[in-house]
Amino acid sequence: MKLHFDLASCVRATSKFSECEKCVYAAPGSIRIVENIPSFKVATGLEAAACIGACPTEAFSLSDFSVTEFFFSFLESKVRLISSNLNVPCVSVLSIEHLISLALASEEVITIDLNAYKEGSHLLDLIEDRIEEANFVLSSFGDKQLNTNLNAVPHIEIDETAPEKKSEEEIPSRRDFLRKTTSVKGVVEHKQAFDEAVDADELQIFDMDTSVIAKIKDKHLPDKRKILFTTLKRAAVPENFEVLAQEDVSFVSQKFIDDSCTNCQICYRICPTGALSSNGKFSLINFDAMLCVKCHLCHDVCEPNSIQLQSGFEIKEFFEPTQRTLASFTIKRCNECGNNFTYTGGEQACPRCMVEEEEAMFLHDNAKRMKGLDV
Ligand code: SF4
Ligand code: SF4
Ligand code: SF4
Repeated sequence: MKLHFDLASCVRATSKFSECEKCVYAAPGSIRIVENIPSFKVATGLEAAACIGACPTEAFSLSDFSVTEFFFSFLESKVRLISSNLNVPCVSVLSIEHLISLALASEEVITIDLNAYKEGSHLLDLIEDRIEEANFVLSSFGDKQLNTNLNAVPHIEIDETAPEKKSEEEIPSRRDFLRKTTSVKGVVEHKQAFDEAVDADELQIFDMDTSVIAKIKDKHLPDKRKILFTTLKRAAVPENFEVLAQEDVSFVSQKFIDDSCTNCQICYRICPTGALSSNGKFSLINFDAMLCVKCHLCHDVCEPNSIQLQSGFEIKEFFEPTQRTLASFTIKRCNECGNNFTYTGGEQACPRCMVEEEEAMFLHDNAKRMKGLDV
């Protein structure tokens, strides 16, 4: 089983300003940043599996194990134990979204086998943190929880009636299920594919080629978010909606934009999922919280630091996703070049023409000085 990396899905490939290091934090012995891009030795294999569940944009995957396929096959089976001895290569391949979705979609309580992990190890701490966050979020709108069997003797139940391996025809239909049932304003239209980008034994240094650049421009939502959408749609809607502290929710965010925003357009052009968007005139900045994977890229690229996290995450968003307008602008046509610009009050020309005009004035004044004329 090999670790694969899809460079086009990594937010570091999108912008040199990205500070994302979630994969490095998850697998510090295996992943490191080289020339601003995550690098690893394919031979590190499963030690690096934790980065799969950590990456907000699902840039990492395994050659012989699909977390999306596992989600469906696990729910179809009768086993309610998730174990590296049974059905996953490592529990750390599961993201918090997967854990929440599994707990929500399962009739019976799911137990996660942690006995395979060394006490006090980074991997065990990381998995326990994910389970804790998943249970915390789950407790805010229902009574479903995940169990662990740490320190208990694992009871591995073999499912005699487990369904046979799905045929090629059946597997696409599961993905169709994701595609058809997870739509927020038409953004979620693509069937996901887990591309194999890398297959070698040495340290991988990833290059940008034209195919990667073209792929970066595509906005797409990770499968784990589509899975969360679909399970939430089937979950009982709570009577009251809680608000969780934003620092307690690591995989989704709600934001606002303050007055310092210049409408430079970078954040909504660069957002990998389309959570931030604009209209045809670029006069609005809209935000769909349920499309946000908290990759932090929009914050990293915003020069005036105008994008702020809301102090609380409203659970209502899970059940009634909305698009909010975070900023609106007056767009005017430049008297000099005819291009549209963001009007801030009084100016008749776009910023570029104003700079050019200032430079022309400066050169004109200098020329006069050199001729000894009064300026
Ligand atoms: S986007 Fe994923 S692969 Fe890229 S740096 Fe962040 S966690 Fe690592
Ligand atoms: S929020 Fe920041 S990055 Fe986005 S348009 Fe405004 S200034 Fe630019
Ligand atoms: S809104 Fe920002 S944090 Fe959320 S997915 Fe887009 S770029 Fe990432």
